[in-house]
Amino acid sequence: MSYLDLSIEKMHEAIINEKVTPEELVKESLQRAKDYQGEYNSFVTITEKEALGELTKIENKDSYLYGIPCAIKDNLSTKGILTTASSNILKDYIPCFDATVVSKLKESGSISIGKTVLDELAMGGTGTTGHTGIVRNPWNKERLIGGSSAGSCAAVASGIVPFAIGSDTGDSIRKPAIYGGIVGFKPTYGRISRFGLFPFACSLDHVGCFARNVKDIAYVVDAIKGHDDKDMTSLENDNVKYSARLDGNVKGKKVFYIKEIMDINNYEGEIDKELEEVFKNFESVKEKCRELGMEVCEESIDIRLLKAIFSTYMTISCAEATSNNSNLTGIQFGPRGEGKNIEEIMFDARTKGFSELIKRRFVLGSYVLQKENQEKLFLNAGRIRRMIVDKINQLFEKYDAFILPGSSSTAPEFQSENIDKLSNRYLLLENHMAIGNFGGMPSITIPSGKIDNMPIGICITGRAKDDLNVLNIAYALENVLGCKGQIAGKENK
Ligand code: GLN
Repeated sequence: MSYLDLSIEKMHEAIINEKVTPEELVKESLQRAKDYQGEYNSFVTITEKEALGELTKIENKDSYLYGIPCAIKDNLSTKGILTTASSNILKDYIPCFDATVVSKLKESGSISIGKTVLDELAMGGTGTTGHTGIVRNPWNKERLIGGSSAGSCAAVASGIVPFAIGSDTGDSIRKPAIYGGIVGFKPTYGRISRFGLFPFACSLDHVGCFARNVKDIAYVVDAIKGHDDKDMTSLENDNVKYSARLDGNVKGKKVFYIKEIMDINNYEGEIDKELEEVFKNFESVKEKCRELGMEVCEESIDIRLLKAIFSTYMTISCAEATSNNSNLTGIQFGPRGEGKNIEEIMFDARTKGFSELIKRRFVLGSYVLQKENQEKLFLNAGRIRRMIVDKINQLFEKYDAFILPGSSSTAPEFQSENIDKLSNRYLLLENHMAIGNFGGMPSITIPSGKIDNMPIGICITGRAKDDLNVLNIAYALENVLGCKGQIAGKENK
């Protein structure tokens, strides 16, 4: 047995009782990172030298994260350490400051062992578009792990680190967490500072984390949340220690699921064995909720609104991305382009620096932001966003949370046919997690079972600022779902 396979809580106990030292844990974590890199490609940079240097400085012995290794998505700035956002436009950028979440991790005594691969600039959901190559799923190397926080998820799912930091604009923590059989959480918008995060779409971006059980997530969030003057969207402190308040008592809680998403008749012609299994699994999740004393109800939402989530998300996120990324010109960051004047230099840097996928999104974004299209496209998308959030908030007057499957299948194969983006399966089942981003709501995914040894899971979303409640429902449920603490290819710990 290795201490590195345990929960953060047990790892912490082992450190305090001097059964293992931070140095041993970090060295083993670094060794695994190097050993698995060829297989899964989780890291852009394995920061061995820096990690060993940090080890000599850590002090905060009372912190639960003292001496615990972690990994950080490569769109978060790290002082003196390459930060690429997995894009050629930043391929040699070394920030001169730490993102707030990185400073907070350092204060907590956690040791980062590396910067993880993402879909370029966090746009995408496959983990296949980073400039250093594709990330593979530790449960099956022929499958993708999902994205954009692909490397962070693979690092936790394969047992390299017990937790990792990611970002989530539409589902970029939660979707890979489903495919990797681990827990992924994005708290309320503003709960964790985004200072030092390369923005993708600033009204939707959240920093969050991966771990292998819900309590570990709570320990990590306790360490990295809090008000930050450097982020003007940062919330006031809630002064709640989530890890100390999880009790698993969910008796009397009311949750709903959305009828139109869970009506199998809406998927005629799109049903296969995996979809049937996902539905069957969800039935057993509902049953488990009821056994825990929760009330589970069906609620209806206009299917036209639900089917509009994807286009609303794309319209808003591409517009914001176009604007947010306009500072990536090769002047302030990354490789300098060639040319006779500043325009030519920027043109060359951006032409070489961004992949086709990114350029396509910028073209979409520029189109919807064009003066003559703004009212009809950009502002209307904002109105639909508001209609969806209002509807959910209205339901939250009666309910504590809503639950839904986190995907319509297990992790797809790399070669799999591209899913039809106009199918109901895609529009309804694969995109609903963006509701949590539209409304800045706390949202968590936990594993709920397997199909042919590949993980599937569910998503639980609650009222904005009600993070503890969402964590507590997930905490109660994971104890009865039987997938807690799993590491790809190993026994549960
Ligand atoms: N998959 C979504 C996209 O392609 C979400 C990305 C994210 O959350 N960063 O934009």
